[in-house]
Amino acid sequence: ANDDDDELLSEWQKANKKSKISYGKKSDMSIAEQRKSLPVFKMRSQLLDLVDENQFLVIVGETGSGKTTQLTQYLMEDGYSRRGVIGCTQPRRVAAISVAKRVSEEVGCKLGHQVGYKVRFDDKYGPDTEIKYMTDGMLQREALIDPNMSKYSVIMLDEAHERTIATDVLFALLKKAARNRPDLKIIVTSATLDSDKFSRYFNDCPVLKIPGRTFPVEIMYTKEPELDYLAACLDTVLQIHVVEGPGDILVFLTGQEEIDTACEALYDKVKALGSSVPELIILPVYSSLPSEVQSRIFEPTPKGSRKCVIATNIAETSITIDGIYYVIDPGFVKINAYDPKLGMDSLVVSPISQAQANQRAGRAGRTGPGKCYRLFTESAFKNEMSPNTIPEIQRQNLSTTILMLKAMGIDDLINFEFMDPPPMRTLMVALEELFNLSALDQDGNLTKLGNKMADFPMDPALAKSLIVSSDLHCSDELTTIVAMLSVQTIFYRPKHKQQQADLKKSKFHSTQGDHLTLLNTYNAWAQNDYSRTWCEENYIQERSLKRARDVRNQLIKIFLKYKHSVSSCGRDYDRIRVALCSGFFKNSAKRDSSEPGAFKTLIEDTPVYMHPSSCLFGKRSEYVIYHTLLLTTKEYMHCVTTIEPQWLIEVAPTFFKVGDGQKKKSGKIVSLKRNGHKRLAPR
Ligand code: ADP
Ligand code: MG
Repeated sequence: ANDDDDELLSEWQKANKKSKISYGKKSDMSIAEQRKSLPVFKMRSQLLDLVDENQFLVIVGETGSGKTTQLTQYLMEDGYSRRGVIGCTQPRRVAAISVAKRVSEEVGCKLGHQVGYKVRFDDKYGPDTEIKYMTDGMLQREALIDPNMSKYSVIMLDEAHERTIATDVLFALLKKAARNRPDLKIIVTSATLDSDKFSRYFNDCPVLKIPGRTFPVEIMYTKEPELDYLAACLDTVLQIHVVEGPGDILVFLTGQEEIDTACEALYDKVKALGSSVPELIILPVYSSLPSEVQSRIFEPTPKGSRKCVIATNIAETSITIDGIYYVIDPGFVKINAYDPKLGMDSLVVSPISQAQANQRAGRAGRTGPGKCYRLFTESAFKNEMSPNTIPEIQRQNLSTTILMLKAMGIDDLINFEFMDPPPMRTLMVALEELFNLSALDQDGNLTKLGNKMADFPMDPALAKSLIVSSDLHCSDELTTIVAMLSVQTIFYRPKHKQQQADLKKSKFHSTQGDHLTLLNTYNAWAQNDYSRTWCEENYIQERSLKRARDVRNQLIKIFLKYKHSVSSCGRDYDRIRVALCSGFFKNSAKRDSSEPGAFKTLIEDTPVYMHPSSCLFGKRSEYVIYHTLLLTTKEYMHCVTTIEPQWLIEVAPTFFKVGDGQKKKSGKIVSLKRNGHKRLAPR
């Protein structure tokens, strides 16, 4: 790494890079010894017998007992991979990749050969792959093409307690596949004790319990509710670091921004304590972190120093970090939840369940007796937290899932064998949304367009914009924009250079909005030979753009595979905005002249505001569409583009019509009026 590289890093990140964790030396034990020391090892033959004798098997075991990394290898060693691939699903892409990496090291192969992975927009596997880790979403997609899972001999649905939508849908799809394929083995693993429910669902199959290797964890609560949990976290870390004996610390926070802020603040605070205290190695863990950085969390802590891992709930069960003695748990998690008021999913920070709190506490007791500092009161734990986490399927928007099920020919959603059926209202909302996008007809049948939309692994609104862009001859541009929308933070704003950064960013601004700004940015990068120096000069995260390029290439592949044309509109950018409208017309808003920056959504009349990061901020735009809403102090529109109101009538005639046309001073503005639009007839 050169010094230019450091330009974009904050002080703690630089310090972090220089800290002296010994790379390469994972542990004093050999890999074979490590494998044998895991609790699952003692169960190996019993486990293989159970798989042999049963089609379904539920396995329960503490996090870190070796389920994810070992079971697949046992099955391979026992010959299952000769009959088909051994598949193992993970709810999170990072976990799938990191585990595949680890297992390829244990097996002693190059990643992508005997052991591989597949996540959305990224994969490393081939014809010789015997163990394939993948996200549950990817396996669900495979079921679309191959409902009998004919490539697989065993499928392990790992982390089933997380109850993601994709895992829940796979329960039902695999149960069906198993009926057609008596030789297919299904293993469901869970870290919590809801195993009876899983067993009942899978025809009363046996449950194998792996005895944990856990030590007692002392649990401490705060006396009063914490108003500022971030500050309380940092204070607790410092207190542990100064007062308590050796052992690493694990802190649970809700997301990347919060974690970065915490790391930076913590670094400053430790520095202020001077050289009398030992070194504290601060390590962030969240899903968009590059994997080199992530693998550092597994390195043993050098003698005389202490490690403090600050993670999202990814460290709750899907990643195990050895050596943790102290857990700090503020009791929150960021979840994607359907907001009926907004009519869409949004990310909200919400309290965890009692089961999650206990999982988190358990992380402190893997190496020896530990301590868990809960930054909430005992009464909040007992009275305010629900005992179990609510399955995603009961709280999220289901339009993507339903589109896929419809494309598989599963029309009878009411009698689909969900373990916990979604509420009827959620189903209806999703069906209606698909109808509004013309993916379903009035009888709820999949349309031609809907069928095409199901080929894209993404939100139906994005899928529709992409397909329409092909007809409008701007798919070259739309794939870039959609790829850019799918990556996180592109523009970097270092604390002390925000003005310079903003100035650089303004070079890419389009007068028509943020979508086109994203396009300009990507194209400028491409014109500069995808240069890293160019990214640094322009305060742009190179990693994000590289990922956007990967996503774009994957999208182009899908276009070619399904014979949608890829062509450019040249300078005719209106086409791009029309294509975006065709998917996002529901996210349209009109300026509310009573307040600067204020808008009202056309469909619901909800007040929304231009986000200060938008290139349209402070500009006068009448009609806009936005990509998402972000709720902070206000409801902010994120990624906003100006539109012509008549486009809405063209792309969604059931929603919009020419209004009564109150003559505005400026003349011919078409005013919009909500149509009493046709509704989907429920079947
Ligand atoms: P489980 O699935 O039961 O939670 P795992 O199979 O994930 O358990 O983990 C078993 C062991 O392997 C743990 O001790 C964990 O620390 C270790 N491990 C997992 N991934 C890695 C990795 N990428 N690098 C080093 N050790 C790892
Ligand atoms: Mg696991």
